[in-house]
Amino acid sequence: MRIFKFGGASIKDAAGVKNVASILTENNSNDVLVVISAMGKTTNALEAVIHHCYHKTGQAQSALQVVFDYHNTILSELFESGNLFGVSDIKNLYLELECFIDSPSSQDDYDFLYDQIIGFGELIATKIVSNYLLSQGIENQWIDARNFIITDSRHRDARVQWKETEKVIQSRLLPIAKKNLVITQGFIGRGSNGETTTLGREGSDYSAAIFGSILGADSITIWKDVAGVMNADPKKFENAVLIPTLTYNDAIELAYYGASVIHPKTIQPLKANHIPLFVRSFLNPTAMGTKVSDDNSRIEVACKIHKDNQLLLEISTKDFTFIAEDHLKEIFQAMSENKVRCNLMQNSAIVFRCVIDNKENKHEPLIKALETLGLAVSVMNSLELLSIYHPEGEFDSAIQKAAHQKVVLQQNMGNSIHYLLTDAS
Ligand code: ASP
Ligand code: MG
Repeated sequence: MRIFKFGGASIKDAAGVKNVASILTENNSNDVLVVISAMGKTTNALEAVIHHCYHKTGQAQSALQVVFDYHNTILSELFESGNLFGVSDIKNLYLELECFIDSPSSQDDYDFLYDQIIGFGELIATKIVSNYLLSQGIENQWIDARNFIITDSRHRDARVQWKETEKVIQSRLLPIAKKNLVITQGFIGRGSNGETTTLGREGSDYSAAIFGSILGADSITIWKDVAGVMNADPKKFENAVLIPTLTYNDAIELAYYGASVIHPKTIQPLKANHIPLFVRSFLNPTAMGTKVSDDNSRIEVACKIHKDNQLLLEISTKDFTFIAEDHLKEIFQAMSENKVRCNLMQNSAIVFRCVIDNKENKHEPLIKALETLGLAVSVMNSLELLSIYHPEGEFDSAIQKAAHQKVVLQQNMGNSIHYLLTDAS
């Protein structure tokens, strides 16, 4: 059995959905479980809906209409009029979403609200793909991933309850997946109160790894709009090259530093179960892309990874006494409670520095919590984190910052070197 994962870019329009159908046909897909995320930029569009809903701006319905119009265009290009396979399923999902938005009761907890709305992107996308495949004579079974990915109730970043998830996947999904092409959603799961949860933005790769590791898949393939894992973002570095093979550990490190091709949590379950991961291009489906497994030797080229939109928090005591272990304990606790991940940290006698993503709603509550603890926090924004990774620690390639950038913070960690950059002007 194999797992295929198709992300938003691969199904951003009707041509993309048709391409998925042809990849499935060419790859003899009757033992494939397909994990799909929301079409194109739907997740961002639904985030706008959530914003209007939460802040009660009165514009949630019109923001939602943008999402419906986008999907309706794809539907009308996939199905001739009068031949709308499964259209009532899709219209029912629209209706469910509208009714949820109208109900006032559920709108106090932002993260909860977010998860109840955002997953509709995946539900609608899988219904469209599944019905299109049926219309082309490609038999498949649509499955609601929330019945199988069992999580805790930490909304927007739910943790998988492995025992329960394993039990239900093995008893209920395995018999179906052995014999059928299965179409299901990435990103979403079910929390302890039966509500929808999500695994964090871009979490569909992780869903594929969860399904694959429990089903004992022979391989996982993530179909992307890039040739495979590259040693740098080809949009930023002309000389970026494809890395044909990678070890799990190298892949984990690259993902951790921010190589966006693979979601950081994806590799661990595959490594534990020795399942190879392929990253291949849906634009060039016969090319082999990158294979991540244990058989490979370590990467030989240096990899450069950028993270834009970073914030530097400088945390100190108000009287500039030492930042001691007790403070660090409180700082990490506040970060964990506010679900803020630290991309890089540095500690001196009186200042703890921490680089984090600038994500909506995340750093402000953290700063408040730190201030309540009696700490002073200063924030520097619009920074870029450049990480150069090389397992041998050979950093002959000089830092490739632009001329107008200056280094705010630098850290050498043996097999990686990191620069936090700002515009000098
Ligand atoms: N649709 C979700 C997102 O864009 C999940 C994913 O794409 O993996 O974050
Ligand atoms: Mg997506």
